[in-house]
Amino acid sequence: MFHINQKMNSMELRIDKLSKTYSNGIKALQNISLEIPNGMFGLLGPNGAGKSTLMRTIATLQEADSGSIILGDIDVLKQKNALRQVLGYLPQQFGLYPKISAEVLLNHFAVLKGITNKGERNDLVDALLHKTNLYEVRKQNLKGFSGGMKQRFGIAQALLNNPKLLIVDEPTAGLDPVERNRFYNVLSELGEHTVVILSTHIVDDVKELCTNMAIINQGHVCLQGNPLQILEGLKDKVYRKTIDKAELNCYKENYQVISERLFLGKPTIHIVNDKNPGDGFSLINAELEDVYFSEIFNNTNPKSN
Ligand code: ADP
Repeated sequence: MFHINQKMNSMELRIDKLSKTYSNGIKALQNISLEIPNGMFGLLGPNGAGKSTLMRTIATLQEADSGSIILGDIDVLKQKNALRQVLGYLPQQFGLYPKISAEVLLNHFAVLKGITNKGERNDLVDALLHKTNLYEVRKQNLKGFSGGMKQRFGIAQALLNNPKLLIVDEPTAGLDPVERNRFYNVLSELGEHTVVILSTHIVDDVKELCTNMAIINQGHVCLQGNPLQILEGLKDKVYRKTIDKAELNCYKENYQVISERLFLGKPTIHIVNDKNPGDGFSLINAELEDVYFSEIFNNTNPKSN
């Protein structure tokens, strides 16, 4: 029952006015509404934005105060078991038994997921080890795995029940660029027939992988849509200038400075402006990172120009 081919069922995840306030008064989710189609969806936001709270709520691991979540014909908040049958989840913190090989542990997880037929289970484990590029190291104990290998193992276990909804929470944090790339390659193969939600604070994750995205900050959705269309919104509006560090505050008073960083060793600012400000600024092609910083800026400084 876990391996029914689901290619025909195009799913959509609809989140409507979801809210959650923790007992300490923190409003982690405030009226979140999102429409998430099949494919890779990037949920981008800074630390503390509410991403994990949202992921855990969708994964039925915690309750919301109000609102609804619907996947296809499953009312997620009410039909928790139905959702769990079709869910794959790679949480932010992911414990592994260090003294067991990847192959043995994956087999063990498959038993726990109810795949009782041994032949079927072995085939599935082999297929997933291949898919996540771990087949060569399948006999090694997980203790010796790098961060990237562990994350790929996490994806393999999340795929055991052929999920219709896959949630991956901050998967690339702490991975070096090579491992991150390998992880992207594994994820990019999955998206087409599954709703995949990738929660991250790393803009490049979304840029590389996602056909749809949302930015959340302080429990609010600031923006959602297709990254290319979203980029259009900043077309001809982002300007760059290399400055002296001492001038930064002055620029901040006069312009909407969305980011400040070193560029080739020099302090450099990006601003959003409707017209060319002159003053030594040059127009640049907006990047997704500019969209992100500008949304976070507007969300944090709602009265600024
Ligand atoms: P993110 O995953 O985007 O970093 P979280 O969902 O973990 O964000 O956290 C959102 C906000 O809720 C943060 O301010 C965090 O401190 C707070 N928070 C998260 N979990 C709890 C909890 N169990 N109890 C109280 N506050 C929490």
